[in-house]
Amino acid sequence: MVEVKLENIVKTFGETVALKGIDLHIKHGELFTLLGPSGCGKSTTLRIIAGLDFPDKGRIFFDDQEVTYLSSSERGAVLVFQNYALWPHMTVYDNIAYGLKIKKLPKDEIEKKVRWALQLVKLEGFEDRYPTQLSGGQQQRVAIARAIVVEPKLLLLDEPLSNLDAKLRLEMRSEIRRIQRELGITVLYVTHDQEEAMAISDRIAVMNVGTVEQVGTPREIYEKP
Ligand code: ADP
Ligand code: ADP
Repeated sequence: MVEVKLENIVKTFGETVALKGIDLHIKHGELFTLLGPSGCGKSTTLRIIAGLDFPDKGRIFFDDQEVTYLSSSERGAVLVFQNYALWPHMTVYDNIAYGLKIKKLPKDEIEKKVRWALQLVKLEGFEDRYPTQLSGGQQQRVAIARAIVVEPKLLLLDEPLSNLDAKLRLEMRSEIRRIQRELGITVLYVTHDQEEAMAISDRIAVMNVGTVEQVGTPREIYEKP
C-alpha cells in the first residue's frame, strides 16, 4: 500500500502538451479514479506513475520517496492494460506465475501464491486453460491475478472493463471493489465512463485536456458538476 503524489507534472509529445502541470494526491489504500474524455491525458498520467514513461517536468513521490526517474520495476507498481495482454501460448497458471518465475522464487512458493491469486479472482479450476478458452470476464480476472500475485504497492487499471459487455462490466466492477478492499491495496483506475467512476471510486479526479479540473468523492463531484 502506498501514497502517491504528483507535483506539477508536465508531459509533451512534440507539439502536443498532454499534461499541463498536474498535481494529484492519492491516499493509502484508496481507489482513486482519473475520469475524462478521450485524449485528456489519463493514460499518459498512468504510464508516468508506472514508470513506463517520464515527465518533462515535475516530481513523483511514493510515500516519502521520490520516484520520478526510477524504473518501473524499482517502483513496485503494476499496470493492467485495457486489452489485458495475456500471453496466448501460456496457460492461466503460467500467465499468473510468470512474474514470480522472473523473480526466481522457489517452485512451491510460486504455486502457493498462484493458488492464492486464483482463489482471490475466483478462477480455481481454470489453471490449465489457455486465454482463448476463457470468456472476456475470465481473461480480465487472469490479468488482475497476474498483477496482484507479485503483491504490488500500487495497482494501475487502464479502462479495465471497456472490452466487456454491460452485464459483465457490472459484475467486474464489484469484483474489483471487493479485491481492492480485501487486499487494502491502493488502486489508480482510469475510465471515460462517468457512471462507472461514480460507482467504483473512493475519490475521482476529473481531467480535461491536460489538466485536473476537480478532485473529490463521487458525492462531491456529483453535487457540483
Ligand atoms: P487519454 O488516456 O485520456 O485518452 P492520453 O494520455 O492517451 O489520453 O493522450 C493525451 C494526449 O497526448 C492526446 O492528445 C494524445 O494524442 C497525446 N499522446 C499520447 N501518447 C502519445 C504519443 N506516444 N505520441 C504522441 N502523442 C501522444
Ligand atoms: P461468462 O458468463 O463468465 O462470460 P461465458 O458465458 O462466456 O462466461 O462462458 C460460460 C462457461 O463456458 C465458462 O465456464 C467458460 O469457462 C466456458 N467457456 C467460455 N468460452 C469457452 C471456450 N472458448 N472454450 C471453452 N470453454 C469456454
